[in-house]
Amino acid sequence: MTSTADFLRDTSYRALPAEFFAAAPVSPAPSPQWVVFNDALAAQLGLPQDAATPELLEWLSGGAPPAGRENIALAYSGHQFGGWNPLLGDGRAAMLGEIVAPDGSTYDVHLKGSGPTKFARRGDGRATLSAMLREYIVSEAMAGLKIPTTRALAVVATGAPVYRETTHPGAVLTRIARSHVRVGTFQYAANEDARRDDGPKLTRALADHCIARHFPELAGQKDAYLAFYGAVVARQARLIARWMLVGFIHGVMNTDNMSIAGETIDFGPCAFMDGFNRRQVFSSIDAAGRYAFNRQAPIASWNLARLAETLLPLFDPDDAVALRKAQETLEGFQPAYVAALAHGLERKLGLKPGDSANEPLIARMWRLLETGKADFTLFFRRLTQVAAGADETAFLDLFAETDAAAREEAANFLAEWRAVTAGEDFPSRLALMRASNPVVIARNHRVEQALAAANEGDLAPFWRLCAALKDPFQDPAPPERPEDDLEAPPRPEERVHETFCGT
Ligand code: AMP
Ligand code: MG
Repeated sequence: MTSTADFLRDTSYRALPAEFFAAAPVSPAPSPQWVVFNDALAAQLGLPQDAATPELLEWLSGGAPPAGRENIALAYSGHQFGGWNPLLGDGRAAMLGEIVAPDGSTYDVHLKGSGPTKFARRGDGRATLSAMLREYIVSEAMAGLKIPTTRALAVVATGAPVYRETTHPGAVLTRIARSHVRVGTFQYAANEDARRDDGPKLTRALADHCIARHFPELAGQKDAYLAFYGAVVARQARLIARWMLVGFIHGVMNTDNMSIAGETIDFGPCAFMDGFNRRQVFSSIDAAGRYAFNRQAPIASWNLARLAETLLPLFDPDDAVALRKAQETLEGFQPAYVAALAHGLERKLGLKPGDSANEPLIARMWRLLETGKADFTLFFRRLTQVAAGADETAFLDLFAETDAAAREEAANFLAEWRAVTAGEDFPSRLALMRASNPVVIARNHRVEQALAAANEGDLAPFWRLCAALKDPFQDPAPPERPEDDLEAPPRPEERVHETFCGT
């Protein structure tokens, strides 16, 4: 019989210099219990059907790892809300190993909330059940939307309480990611290299590791490090565009929360926008709006500039030349982002790609969303229904709450959209709109309701929400999901204005 141990191999981070990690102490949970096991993801990873064994439960709850193995906590630095922190690292997380999936991709298996490590500082090394279920819901929602993201394989209750403002049940999340190397890992490497002053040894080792694992096609190429940087810039540009297209606000885009592999990572006070507001912030710790919806592209670019600073010695021995190469490459971010956003919007609006009439229509759309404050998801959903032949009332009703001028502007927008799309029709229009405009998103009030119920031991709302988010484009909704429930925006009294960093 094959056991999960046969699939879970030791982490390749161990081949990096010792500065990059520290042994994570074993911290067994008093009474570990499965809360969620993601069978679909387990199957995708090639795990055996009966993978959720007591042995796996032990490993995934922070207990003793497979025989002869040792979990490791990864070191990294980071700019948190713009402030430099030279040593962050996995304070409450550990790498258990990695899995090569049947498709040939390698995935990290990483625990969060598994106990304090060398990097814990004053933290307790623990995580609350509701924070881990929140990451489960939102990361799986991102996967359902086909946006690059880390995944959630399991949530295990530890049976031990966690103390925040009050007492919470504790849990460990198992996160599956293509990489746990962050911009902050490169900052850590460069900072250590600078302290030693004998060349960019750690930075080079880390870059080589990332190229081998994530960009093998670049290995050995001329200017491979610059090409690597360019590839990371391009992936981030596409990723942020994908967030913007579904109204996703990450909330904590610190450099230690930005993945080299271009996946969405570290789900804290993140949320999907309901009514449109380009300055929307959910995180209670982001009063200044540094990570607001419309700041995400400039902040990603800022983070990527921090990444470039760490790589300069690898770009060119001449500082001035290295800087010029870095700047030229980073300048690629904006056009790549704009192109990805425009491409996505063309699909959402059912427009013929690259048509000259698209740009003014899209500009008009942003103005309308801004003044009309319409629900972002429903705006595209109802337009899709108009494209499918529905009458315009439901679309125009999105603007009922705002003034008559906004409703009139909505009617004008619709007229212009009809004019632009009337000319040359293309048969895939409706299919494209349906495939890019979700029917259901992880609305914040539904997420909070599911978490509140889970805290009381009722997982039914959590399961129901997760099931709907698996295929968010399903149209019409399946009969077991009545309209106006998971799809509808919150009523005024249901609105969640802040998502606490409650971890
Ligand atoms: P995050 O906000 O989850 O990205 O975490 C930022 C940093 O704080 C990381 O270095 C975490 O490992 C650390 N951290 C967060 N919560 C805890 C905790 N309860 N115990 C120890 N370290 C923590
Ligand atoms: Mg983090």
